[in-house]
Amino acid sequence: MIIVKVINAVPFKIGRTIILKMSGDFLPVLKEHGAVALAADEQAPESEAFVLARFPVDEEEPIPGLYEIPEDFISGLNAGDIVKILPNGELQLIWESASRHNAVFVTDYCNSDCIMCPQTPETKPEHHYETAKSVLSLIDEKPSLSFGITGGEPLLLPEKLIELFDVCQKRFPDVSIQLLTNGRILADFDVVAKVLKNCPARTLFCIPLYADNDVEHDAITGASGSFSQSIRGIHNLIRFKRPVEIRVVMVKQNSKRLKDLAHFIFWNFPFAVHVAFMGMETSGVASRNLENVWIDPVDYAEELAQAVTFLHQRLINVSIFNIPLCSLPENIRSFARDSISGWKKTFVPECNDCTKSNECCGFFATSVKKPEHIKPL
Ligand code: SF4
Repeated sequence: MIIVKVINAVPFKIGRTIILKMSGDFLPVLKEHGAVALAADEQAPESEAFVLARFPVDEEEPIPGLYEIPEDFISGLNAGDIVKILPNGELQLIWESASRHNAVFVTDYCNSDCIMCPQTPETKPEHHYETAKSVLSLIDEKPSLSFGITGGEPLLLPEKLIELFDVCQKRFPDVSIQLLTNGRILADFDVVAKVLKNCPARTLFCIPLYADNDVEHDAITGASGSFSQSIRGIHNLIRFKRPVEIRVVMVKQNSKRLKDLAHFIFWNFPFAVHVAFMGMETSGVASRNLENVWIDPVDYAEELAQAVTFLHQRLINVSIFNIPLCSLPENIRSFARDSISGWKKTFVPECNDCTKSNECCGFFATSVKKPEHIKPL
């Protein structure tokens, strides 16, 4: 799962890992007294009376739950939030009902080895499709429901992803899903046909393309043949009339050929519903490869401006993610989006004097290297 917040508390009668939703009943009253109740789910019927509390375990009337939780954690919880509770007392907030940046994380495994991957490889990687299924079965339905599905590579176990789509179809068929996949497995037409069978109609396939040629793209993904597989994957999706977003993460290696890549995208994928040029999140693998991959956005601003303008002039919907407004040339600032999830977005002291901080994406709190040349606007 995408873990928004994690803390350690004192567990009482928690025999195994459980996923639970914040109950709306009496929430304001309970919060005032430093506690919240959790609604039971189908997988954990024994947790009907389950509590997260600020105070120590009540010796007289002990209720299963987590105790001695910091007050700010309790007060920040809302009805519909979903938490994962581990027997050792670890409490993870994995779904924020009020956020528009929720995502379910389905696997640690990936079939690529990108040089700027923001994730830290797990020593004991695991699949999390079952946890994701529990979360999807608990989410409150609402008209504008939207979330991401990410990994690792979510399509590594297509059958498991299909099960998640089945839950979505049953509970919220109109949901907007952003599926973050490298698209390589979609090179197989039969897999695509199977995966799409019960895939909600408003699923956007977000597929990265790092270069206009196989040599550079494959060097960035660390996977020989990935360029041709991703391209075939995109074409297969289009054969099924599924919307595709192309994502370009900008690193030192591709920064001088952004315009060439824009040309390649326009001539080969004019049907792409969106092209996103993305600044790096320098955590995980990227932080270890920093010397090799890092380039400040100011140092490729001209190439980025040419790429964005080229696509925009040809009516391709194009955006810039994860780059502060003041690192961009003025003529392309209107393409910048407030793209960094609230829980990992931060600002630097210079931003206090900026009139555009409400529109700016800010910085990844998780990055070890942040763009320099920051000047309040
Ligand atoms: S000064 Fe800060 S808030 Fe303003 S544009 Fe730059 S990074 Fe964004």
